[in-house]
Amino acid sequence: MSARVLDGQALAARMQQDIRSQVADFTRQRGRPPGLAIVLVGHDPASEVYVGHKLKAGADIGFRADLNRLPETASLTDTLALVERLNRDAAYDGILVQSPLPKNMGPGAATRVFDAIDPDKDVDGLTPINVGRLVQNRAELISCTPAGIIELLEREQIPIAGRRAVVIGRSDIVGKPMALLLLQRDATVTICHSKTPNLPEVCREADILVAAVGRPAMVTGDFVKPGATVVDVGVNRLSNRAAVESLYPPGHRRLGVFEKNGSLLVGDVHPAVAEVAGALTPVPGGVGPLTITMLMMNTLRAARAGR
Ligand code: NDP
Repeated sequence: MSARVLDGQALAARMQQDIRSQVADFTRQRGRPPGLAIVLVGHDPASEVYVGHKLKAGADIGFRADLNRLPETASLTDTLALVERLNRDAAYDGILVQSPLPKNMGPGAATRVFDAIDPDKDVDGLTPINVGRLVQNRAELISCTPAGIIELLEREQIPIAGRRAVVIGRSDIVGKPMALLLLQRDATVTICHSKTPNLPEVCREADILVAAVGRPAMVTGDFVKPGATVVDVGVNRLSNRAAVESLYPPGHRRLGVFEKNGSLLVGDVHPAVAEVAGALTPVPGGVGPLTITMLMMNTLRAARAGR
């Protein structure tokens, strides 16, 4: 039997509708819309796309959403100066610095820049203050992707308390905060990574399996306990025909998408997992739309708490 599809796109649309009316109330009461400043350094093509989506979503929802660009050659000092200026600017409640920063900025640049963001405006939840608050279960601004996944699980009434959860991936932006949020909801949590032995066996213990790796279709049916909930965070663009054809049977709808676009977005979870899992988030249309929605939610939250 095929897994229930956890439709992140539909939930995101409902949540954005709700946020839009709250933004209208805020704007009426305060005489200004919530403000989101996005910093983009250089011209990374994927970052251009992500930033475009965030700006569009912000404008659609009624925010002031502005792009602050710096050239590829910008120094760390230039970038820190921009963040400091945005910290002081009362028009902005949220600041998001799009990663990755250009390599020529040097190792550790991203950490220095994220550390410089005012924690009250840190709508990505990445500053040490907000991460510390998350660890202590008193966070207001939480990393958007894991926060969106929790919204989806809760609204789809997937039980978390008392269940076994396995998170593959230990990044600061997805894996670690995801594990903490599941732990705070009383799951028994295991975090896996590239050095974890017997990965399929560990994953098969999960009632909730979250894959945040960045390896196309790595999680195959043998990773999944029958009936488990599987959350696919991965976003991987495949342009190799043989790789795409190995994933889907002839005539499958997604092969048509590949023919049309010359590439295909796939997750970390193999399509055949749908025959084992009880519920599954699709890629695209699962976790991605919720990430942007939680960015909007965090910006509204920061605006309401604003000084
Ligand atoms: P990172 O590259 O920062 O982290 C990847 C993690 O996967 C690491 O912890 C790494 O382990 C682990 N890993 C790599 N290879 C293996 C393996 N063979 N077995 C087990 N673990 C492995 O990625 P992110 O967390 O930033 O993102 C993960 C994926 O999610 C990407 O595809 C990204 O594009 C996507 N993403 C999607 C978002 C959305 O909104 N849908 C938002 C953010 C990310 P180790 O630590 O040992 O190196």
